Amino acid sequence: MSTCPRCKGHLTESHKCPKRPAIVAAEITASALAGGFIGLLLLAIFDPTEQITGVDLILVVAAGAMACVGINRATRG
Ligand SMILES: [Zn+2]
Repeated sequence: MSTCPRCKGHLTESHKCPKRPAIVAAEITASALAGGFIGLLLLAIFDPTEQITGVDLILVVAAGAMACVGINRATRG
């Protein structure tokens, strides 16, 4: 049984290196930032006069961030 040069795990045919926590955290952060940005973009499109309140703005950004993180976690495991 050979070992993986990167993670030292058993190198089976279906081997996948476990992701480092720092990389996972970076991916989640990047997804959250992207999601928040998309939320702001959608706001600019659907609410060009910026009638939205501060609380709603936070909700939109948070929802976008959570959606993107969720998609990222679902697609990449
Ligand atoms: Zn590996």
